[in-house]
Amino acid sequence: MTATVAIVGGGYGGITAAQALDEDFDVVLIEPKDAFVHNVAALRAVVDPNWAKWMFFPYDGLLKRGRVVRDRAISVEAHGVRTVSGEWIGADYIVIATGTTYPFPAKVYSDHAEAGIARYHRATEALGRAERVLLLGAGPVGIELAGEIRSTWPDKHITLIEPARDILSGGFIEGFDEDVADQLRSELRRQLRDLGISLILGDSLRHDPPTSTGIKSGFAASTWGGTSLTADIWFQCYGRQPVSRVLSRQLSGAWRTDGRLSVMPDLRLPGQSRVFAIGDVTRTQALDTAVVAMEQGGFVAEQIKSLAGGGDPVAYEPSQPLFLIPLGTGGGASYSPDGGILDAETTTLYKGNDLFLTKYCEIFDVPNPLEDS
Ligand SMILES: Cc1cc2nc3c(=O)[nH]c(=O)nc-3n(C[C@H](O)[C@H](O)[C@H](O)COP(=O)(O)OP(=O)(O)OC[C@H]3O[C@@H](n4cnc5c(N)ncnc54)[C@H](O)[C@@H]3O)c2cc1C
Repeated sequence: MTATVAIVGGGYGGITAAQALDEDFDVVLIEPKDAFVHNVAALRAVVDPNWAKWMFFPYDGLLKRGRVVRDRAISVEAHGVRTVSGEWIGADYIVIATGTTYPFPAKVYSDHAEAGIARYHRATEALGRAERVLLLGAGPVGIELAGEIRSTWPDKHITLIEPARDILSGGFIEGFDEDVADQLRSELRRQLRDLGISLILGDSLRHDPPTSTGIKSGFAASTWGGTSLTADIWFQCYGRQPVSRVLSRQLSGAWRTDGRLSVMPDLRLPGQSRVFAIGDVTRTQALDTAVVAMEQGGFVAEQIKSLAGGGDPVAYEPSQPLFLIPLGTGGGASYSPDGGILDAETTTLYKGNDLFLTKYCEIFDVPNPLEDS
């Protein structure tokens, strides 16, 4: 009999594990969305309606043998998963890959690709009519979104407000050498300035904006530091939350106070021999990136193959971090352990143009729209 692997969450980590195990195991991928969301392209989708369509990939072409169950897990237990529709999916191995939520536009809440595309299209249309754009939060999302808007609309007034004393202070590059982090921040600040993007650091709005995010409706605001401003539209560029409330009481010892899941060095939940967790929902030494989630998905697939063959688990060694922040289609800065701080040109080469679309077209076995256009 072939062993069953239940994978909870069809994001970057989940699809990688599912595909790697498809040939040798009965894979059940549990995912409420009707399409994989290529989040890496989400901020381009705010300014370019084509990208809003291209970033959703139906799951049909992902697995050859396994099945994708369109459902939401509500209780992961040691030997199976209960879904919101009441189905019990018994499994020999379980991989939790439920990731994080993030306010629009970094992520979409809807489980329907059509609704997600429509949400991005409405935001693009509203942005097109706005003259003054306010972005709250100068982490990777706020910075990248500012670059996308500038690239598309050279004349808009863009203000980025960050309560911390510097950009990229929300923990994304935590663990980086301080000198490297400072160089990266300073290069990005320089480019933002050259692009005419106003950066207000160490300050925040006295009151939340009176309008919903992504809607064109003018308002005035002031900061605690005494700056008064007006904007026609704003976007929330902070507020990531791990999706970890899927554990049964039996497994709940893995919950951390920050909402992430603790994992052992081999990425199994503490005390569990066959339940793994990967990607953004976990707390490991690795960066919260799609690259890492995929690496961990591949690693866990190998672990499961080894365990099923009577082998022993081994520890996960995170690869060296690669951190990319494009500013539109021609700017940005990055860090790689081999190359140090990478300039705008190299960042564009890595991420700025195709946003890794080609790779996901291959994974989901669909035509590449960039080759057709
Ligand atoms: C705007 C933006 C740009 C980014 N750019 C980059 C980049 O350039 N390079 C890079 O490496 N990383 C980038 N990242 C980070 C990257 O997107 C994340 O690190 C990655 O998504 C983590 O993958 P994951 O598999 O852990 O979770 P996710 O991709 O978040 O997937 C989790 C999946 O689980 C599903 N799920 C949630 N709850 C349940 C449940 N109860 N039952 C079943 N399924 C459930 C969700 O629907 C989702 O499909 C970017 C992120 C954002 C927001």
